[in-house]
Amino acid sequence: MVEIIVNLEKNSYPIKIGMGIVAEENFNKFGCGKCAIITDSNVEKLYAKDLEKKLNQEGLFSKVFSFPAGEKSKTFATVISLGRKMIKSGFDRKSLIIALGGGVVGDVAGFLASIYERGIKFIQIPTTLLAQIDSSIGGKTGVDVPEGKNLFGTFYQPLEVMTDINFLATLPKKEIKNGLAELIKYGMIKDSRLFEFLRNNYSNLGEKELAEIIEKASGIKAAIVSKDEKESGERTILNYGHTIGHAIETIENYRISHGEAVALGMVCEGKISNTLGLLSAADLKKQIELIRLIGLPVNYCGNTDKLIEIMRRDKKAQAGNPHFVLPIKIGAVKNEENKFAFAVKENIIIKSLK
Ligand code: ADP
Ligand code: ZN
Repeated sequence: MVEIIVNLEKNSYPIKIGMGIVAEENFNKFGCGKCAIITDSNVEKLYAKDLEKKLNQEGLFSKVFSFPAGEKSKTFATVISLGRKMIKSGFDRKSLIIALGGGVVGDVAGFLASIYERGIKFIQIPTTLLAQIDSSIGGKTGVDVPEGKNLFGTFYQPLEVMTDINFLATLPKKEIKNGLAELIKYGMIKDSRLFEFLRNNYSNLGEKELAEIIEKASGIKAAIVSKDEKESGERTILNYGHTIGHAIETIENYRISHGEAVALGMVCEGKISNTLGLLSAADLKKQIELIRLIGLPVNYCGNTDKLIEIMRRDKKAQAGNPHFVLPIKIGAVKNEENKFAFAVKENIIIKSLK
């Protein structure tokens, strides 16, 4: 087992990575009598019973609360419905929420934990590659509204992240690809060696390779969050590909997956950086090639005007201007005195979308 610490003074916590680690964990140490396992309809069928049994063996009371799988469930309605069920089942301020699932479960369960009776303890057990390398780390929680993704939420750190690689055995290939999009992002913004590793291994990802990239990515994310929890500086770089990606998800009403949208976003935002003379044509080509090889989309043919309108009201836009993280080569981004995202002229954005 590998352990990585997210360093946030009194809110610090470990990310434990390994095979079969959930079965070996001691849940009593969290000092909570009752555990609410929050999960979605797919993960419930696969893994909720085993976890319940494990908790019962430790003498802990547990109950499963699930909701229909998919981004469409990431709403206030889901949070309220789960919370009310927990109240009716007698969960109190001393209870523990366990988020068992992908990014949607993590966001919903984390948000609920942050507001349930003004905040209760929670832990993350991410079961998708995307959640394991990204969304389970760093304490962002939230829900979507028709106006956009993640527009309501909180920063609320878990007590622990348990990243058990065994879960990935049942994960559909399409979901692995979603995680790979986010891994290309880490390669582009921070780690050229990770980028090369993905290029050499994307078609042959066994447990060993998965463990390696999960450890690498978790380390990058933990280090960034430890420096900048609330995204006032370097954490911004994690938004590479997401300014355009989130707008695409919103416009397509989540028919396009997050990984696909981020892939399209990185293609366009990489082009912007190239147009501005920052990213070389060769590195841009390498990025697009890897996205294509993995089987993620590289061409978006949607409504450009609508995309720009959505980007203007994105919560990360400033004075109505969308800002972009701009790679200067594979493994590094533009940075000016702790500023990591930059406004770009509209004609350059439009050109990149073509
Ligand atoms: P993400 O993790 O990509 O943010 P979701 O939470 O929606 O997004 O998870 C993606 C899909 O994968 C959902 O349909 C979810 O039920 C399913 N899923 C999550 N974990 C597993 C797993 N270990 N095995 C099979 N399917 C899973
Ligand atoms: Zn993302």
